[in-house]
Amino acid sequence: MSGTVTVVGLGPGSDELIVPAVISALNQATDIIGYFRYIERLQNLQNQTLHASDNRQEIERAELALSLASEGKTVVVVSSGDPGVFAMASAVFEALEKNTGYKKNTKIIILPGITAILAASARLGAPIGHDFCVINLSDNLKSRNIVEKRVTAAAQGDFVIAFYNPRSKAREKQLERTFLILKKYCEPSRLVIFADAISTKNEKVIITTLEKADTNLASMKTLVIVGSSSTKEIIGTSYVYTPRYAIEEKN
Ligand code: SAH
Repeated sequence: MSGTVTVVGLGPGSDELIVPAVISALNQATDIIGYFRYIERLQNLQNQTLHASDNRQEIERAELALSLASEGKTVVVVSSGDPGVFAMASAVFEALEKNTGYKKNTKIIILPGITAILAASARLGAPIGHDFCVINLSDNLKSRNIVEKRVTAAAQGDFVIAFYNPRSKAREKQLERTFLILKKYCEPSRLVIFADAISTKNEKVIITTLEKADTNLASMKTLVIVGSSSTKEIIGTSYVYTPRYAIEEKN
C-alpha cells in the first residue's frame, strides 16, 4: 500500500500566513513530523500522531516520513517558512535517493509557504523589488570558504542580499566576518536591515547602515537584509524599497 509524504511550510509565524492548502493537508494527515518548535504551533488537531524531534535531525525525520508512507500513512512534514528554502523538502529527496527502496511507492507533494524574505520584504516596503539573492550563513552543511566566495560574488554583483541563519551560539562571528567582506565592496552608508521574528508577537525591525550595524543584533530568528547600491529608505517613513530599474555605471 502506498501512502504520501506532503512537505509543507507553516510560513514565518502568524497563522494568517499559512496557505489554505497546507491547513487542508494538516487536517487530512495521519502523521505529522517536524522540529518540535514547529509541531508546537499546531493547535486543534485531534486525530494525528505527532512526531516531534530536535534540531538538525532532518535526515532522520525524512526517513521516518518515507517509512511511514511506505506503510500507507498520510504523512505531513512541517517546516517553517517555505519547505523548499533551507528546509525539509530537500532532506526528503536526499533520503529518497539514499534509499531506493522508497522510490517506487511513495508520492511526494511539496506545498509552498511564505518564506522569511517575502514576509520581511512585505513588512519593510519593497526591498527586493529589483535583483536579489539569498544566502544561508550556516556552515553546518558547507564550508566557510564557500560562504565567503558567495558573499563576495553577491556583493560584486550589486544584489540585494538576504542572509538566512545569520548567527547562532555556535557561529557567533559568522555575520561579523560577512560584514567585513561586504565593507570591501559596499559604501559605508549601504542599508542594512535586521528583520527579527517577522509576523510574530516579538517582531522587531531595525534599519541601519553597514558602517553602524551591530552584528550582535542578529539572532537565530533574524533575517538580515543588505541593500544593493540603489536600495533606499524613504526619509520620514519606515519604508525601504529598491527601485525596479538599475543604471549602469560608466567607467
Ligand atoms: N524554511 C524557512 C527558513 C529556514 S532557515 C523559510 O522559508 O523561511 C531559518 C532562518 O530563517 C532563520 O535563521 C532566519 O534567518 C529566517 N527566518 C525564519 N522565520 C523568520 C521570521 N519570522 N522572521 C525573520 N527571519 C526568519
